[in-house]
Amino acid sequence: MITLEQLLLEQTEMELLEKQLFLTPELGFKEQNTQEILKQFFKDHGITNIEDYGINGFSITIGEGKPSIGLIAELDALVVNNHPTAKEPDYAAHACGHHLQCVIMAYVAKKLIQLPQLSGCVKVFFVAAEEYVDLDYRKSLVDNGQIQFLSGKKNLLQLGVFDDIEVILSCHTMGATEHPTMELNASLSGFVYKKYQFQGNSAHAAVAPHLGINALNAQVLTQNAIALLRETFQEKDMVRVHLMTTLGGQSVNAVPSLTVLEGYIRGITFDVLSLTEKKVDQAATHCAQALGGNCIIETTKGYYPLEQSRALSQVLRPHMEVCVGESIIDEQKSFAAGDVGDLSLFKPTIQFGFSGCKGTVHGDDFMMHNSLEALVYPLYVLCNSVMDMLEKPAMIEGILKDFKVKMTKEEYFA
Ligand SMILES: [Zn+2]
Repeated sequence: MITLEQLLLEQTEMELLEKQLFLTPELGFKEQNTQEILKQFFKDHGITNIEDYGINGFSITIGEGKPSIGLIAELDALVVNNHPTAKEPDYAAHACGHHLQCVIMAYVAKKLIQLPQLSGCVKVFFVAAEEYVDLDYRKSLVDNGQIQFLSGKKNLLQLGVFDDIEVILSCHTMGATEHPTMELNASLSGFVYKKYQFQGNSAHAAVAPHLGINALNAQVLTQNAIALLRETFQEKDMVRVHLMTTLGGQSVNAVPSLTVLEGYIRGITFDVLSLTEKKVDQAATHCAQALGGNCIIETTKGYYPLEQSRALSQVLRPHMEVCVGESIIDEQKSFAAGDVGDLSLFKPTIQFGFSGCKGTVHGDDFMMHNSLEALVYPLYVLCNSVMDMLEKPAMIEGILKDFKVKMTKEEYFA
């Protein structure tokens, strides 16, 4: 057991690291300086057991054998033009508080390594590129063979770096709250990116429209069909279909022969997502055919919904109560998505929430304002939860028994 009093001794130093990272925001797969700051931190604290993965990802290993616990921190920032820390050329800013995760996990590693002996293994992963942004750059990295997928965690899954890990713990800011609060068991939505290309035939728009097949009309019919489908979307399923026209035709005096409708489909579970995708694909295919055209559908997998391990959350709950008492929010559902959802397909995974920030998440006024809530409390919860699981391996056995793998790696990468 590590006490809050012991951890409060770290608060000032944690604030300094927070400030340094907050002023070094970098987009996904561009986190070189962030990575250097953290590696220097570990060097300064005599932690040398570092492994690198792909672009900017790395891990620290403490102890060995089983049980094996994985901790995750995200390295990247996102684009927020007017944020006070945003600079040219990318205007990146830590408006999602990922740098807080880095500080918290760095100090978890520091505290655990000071323990006399660890009965098991803890791996702390610092992972690149969680935000699904800057996609042209990432696609160029894929084209150059430097990464295989657009998200950091998906690349690590492909490299098999989590294969030996039994449970995964992560945390995320909850944004502004009225009083000290923590959150457990929140669901995140999943999404797929869809591109619908409507194909028709060009003809003179005034002289011979009867000889053309109007791709834009096929698209409009599809958009109406999607609107009519909305009554089948249930509130509990958190469905969003947000598509936009990115090509409306070729020439104002010709019947459009090609149009493009693209965007995301979101849902709170994998089944909801698949069912909604099927409905919208069907509408696009048949609306295009109804007018004599054709629809080519391109699907890119985004992130899977996050389904948190309730059994793993139970390990954290008593430690959260020490920090925030009864003020623990449970079972929230969010339209937001994250690639931590992909990890939850394969391993019991949690991402708990913490308070201590102000402003709007992803907004130009987002920042930490209370380091006790945003740094020390999460550190306390993680250190003690990890120590509980290492001291009582039956806890992890129970968590694993409670968990069902949702798909095979082959299915996932297909
Ligand atoms: Zn985030």
